Amino acid sequence: MGKIGVAILGATGSVGQKFLELLADHPIFEVTELAASEKSAEKKYKDATNWIMQKSLPKNFGEMIVKECKPNLNSKIVFSALDASVAGDIEEDFAKAGYIVISNARNHRYDANVPLIIPEVNPDHLEMIKYQKYGSGAIITNPNCSTIGLVLALKPLQKNFGLESVNVVTLQAISGAGYPGLPSMDIIDNSIPFIGGEEPKMEKEPLKILGKLNAKGDVDFANIKISAQCNRVAVNDGHLENVQVKFVKKPSAQEIIEAWINFKSEPQQLNLPSAPKQPIYYFYEDKYPQPKIHRNLENGMAASVGRLRECSLFDFKFVVLSHNTVRGAAGGTILIAELLHAKGYLPNE
Ligand code: NAP
Repeated sequence: MGKIGVAILGATGSVGQKFLELLADHPIFEVTELAASEKSAEKKYKDATNWIMQKSLPKNFGEMIVKECKPNLNSKIVFSALDASVAGDIEEDFAKAGYIVISNARNHRYDANVPLIIPEVNPDHLEMIKYQKYGSGAIITNPNCSTIGLVLALKPLQKNFGLESVNVVTLQAISGAGYPGLPSMDIIDNSIPFIGGEEPKMEKEPLKILGKLNAKGDVDFANIKISAQCNRVAVNDGHLENVQVKFVKKPSAQEIIEAWINFKSEPQQLNLPSAPKQPIYYFYEDKYPQPKIHRNLENGMAASVGRLRECSLFDFKFVVLSHNTVRGAAGGTILIAELLHAKGYLPNE
């Protein structure tokens, strides 16, 4: 069986580059087209992008000619790493033209019948695409990078004990702002207590992801109160989040830790190539998890949790860390595509 060709929209940006790094030797997908804005189109990829990944740019990608983000591409599956200012219309044009679009952008996350997927958390929500208005095309979305780590940690707690309310304070990496991101003079020796649009996303997205699929092919949102405060800190990759939770039925600390470390789901059962063997790790050391040490655990696809302790305001508090451009963006999207493939949702197989 040959590999399935995929195109990357927004290939020149930081998430686009991460796609190329992760897909360079993928067992199912092969990147056959790269697309970006008019200013990059018609150039060789190596001349259109400022490559900032640790692995060197594979030669075959460097020589590819960048195309425009128009729905005349050969690959029927497109991964979108487009800037949100343009992603909405472009992704919809592709879906209407019969393409399967798997997107990192925020634009379609709340559209009717558009699933917002973390493969370990709500794989059943993929059914929603059958109700979409795009014929053979579809849009599937990946949540915001800070939502993903939080919800990975919350899912086993919701499933086993029920959740009433959540408070989260984030320390988010610079790469979350794209490339070139913040001016160095703003972020070196600094923390910035504001990330535009981030707090509303963190307060709403988990409710859709943790919600229930209904008979109309949509989601009844989970009934959990969430409050978020988001900060940008001088870390390259890896979002750290301080979380407080109140349960419907308060468990013991040991029961919580067991729920995390025993948590496995469809991506693990299906042995998907990008799935972490263990989605959540628990660290007993007081000073863990840390972005520099743990962000690349399981190739950047696992969430690292630690510092679980009783809370005087809520029931418990803990810390969760996840890699924002891998699990929180390109890696998460690739895992969605692997799940779509394993469940027979992709064309031309
Ligand atoms: P980025 O580095 O700014 O890259 C944006 C990409 O969009 C570039 O390839 C750019 O192409 C392309 N683009 C801009 N205007 C365009 C236009 N008019 N037509 C076609 N392409 C256009 O951003 P990023 O950090 O990679 O993020 C990409 C998306 O993923 C965003 O929606 C972001 O919110 C989301 N996301 C990012 C992260 C993260 O950790 N960084 C995590 C989760 C989700 P040119 O180079 O040609 O301008």
